[in-house]
Amino acid sequence: MRCVSTRGHDTASLTEALQRGLARDGGLYVPAQWPRFAAAAFAGADSLAAVATRLLQPFFADHVLADQVGAISAAAFNFPLPVIELRAPRTYLLELFHGPTGAFKDVGARFLAEVLSRLRSPSAPPVTVLAATSGDTGSAVAAAFHRRPGFQVAILFPDGRVSARQAHLLSCFGDNVQSFAVQGSFDDCQAMVKAAFADADLQARCPLTSANSISLGRLLPQAAYYAQVALAHWQRHQRALNFVIPTGNLGNGLAALYARSMGLPVGEVVLATNANRVLPEFLASGNYQPRASIATLANAMDVGAPSNLERLRALFASTAELTQAVTAVSVTDAAIAARIRRFFADEGRAICPHTAVAAEVLAGLREGGDQRDWCLVASADPVKFESIVEPLIGQSLAVPPSLEHWLQRPALATPIAATAAALRQQLLARQGSAIIAE
Ligand SMILES: *Cc1c(COP(=O)(O)O)cnc(C)c1O
Repeated sequence: MRCVSTRGHDTASLTEALQRGLARDGGLYVPAQWPRFAAAAFAGADSLAAVATRLLQPFFADHVLADQVGAISAAAFNFPLPVIELRAPRTYLLELFHGPTGAFKDVGARFLAEVLSRLRSPSAPPVTVLAATSGDTGSAVAAAFHRRPGFQVAILFPDGRVSARQAHLLSCFGDNVQSFAVQGSFDDCQAMVKAAFADADLQARCPLTSANSISLGRLLPQAAYYAQVALAHWQRHQRALNFVIPTGNLGNGLAALYARSMGLPVGEVVLATNANRVLPEFLASGNYQPRASIATLANAMDVGAPSNLERLRALFASTAELTQAVTAVSVTDAAIAARIRRFFADEGRAICPHTAVAAEVLAGLREGGDQRDWCLVASADPVKFESIVEPLIGQSLAVPPSLEHWLQRPALATPIAATAAALRQQLLARQGSAIIAE
């Protein structure tokens, strides 16, 4: 399938789009056409991997990997994504965090790693997967590419702005993974990555590939879990399922909208943001004003300029149509904390601060009299944020063995200034040593 840039001046094959990350005109790649599905297209597809295979097959039509979509999906979606019926009526919780690093980012990262591994020619020089992370992307990408032949991984995270367990998970892989603790914000990390991709000389000496939330290879597989959950709900209740999605860079939220625009029975999509209010303000006023992010309890959503915003706009003919079709609501830190406590009291379940943002938004809808079927999206395991969650619920949380495995390893991150030059120097130094080591 051809991809086009959101800015209209570049096209690419799917492979090029996956390998380049950013389009050459500075925009983001999106599929030139969206396939449309009737529910019958998924008859008999009852596992997530099976739904993903049918949903994603059209994007790989004519592609060298066309006959491997099923194998890629089976390898990537190898952990459960359970939907839990909550005590509150007509309310569900979609737990996306049972992958290797305890956040939904594992889904996209694992799919992307499978695709890029299969696309790589064994004689090609090693490529560096470069990712900025606000907390969870980096560890998901690191886990997905850890010890994969032909890949180096460089992770940039904002020092002091991630939880202790997140920091550990970002720094514990070793081998082909290097972690940089950036003396700055997540927005600084993103700017450094953008500068590296724009640096032709650096790219000539150290081939880079993107694994950020702008990667189509992460976005498309995320549409698959919305497809599967919405289809299952439709089959059982003959009603569309509505979703409240904790949102930062808009990768997860966009995936739900993509599933809906492909004809899946996804109802309303409400984007739940923390005190970084750029999206709710934009959708309320039609006026987009990016700004520096502020630190909140839901740190993986501390985003002042959502990187997928161009894709959200490109999905609709006009801003007016977009503001009709999607809503966003912002939640304060005080409300996040109160909701974690309340949710635990009402449902007997701990939720992470990001999931609590969504739960708070849904509570507001319910108070307004909304009785429809809603699914809360749980984006991370609460144990990753134990220093926030445990005092609120007055209990300690058990660490699942899959996470314990990584937390037992020593952590080692390299501190780095928040400049493009500092990153460039590190990547080149490392590239030299990688080639000698091989
Ligand atoms: C990344 C992340 C989010 C935000 O997802 P986006 O796709 O950037 O909108 C929410 N919660 C958690 C736990 C995350 O790691």
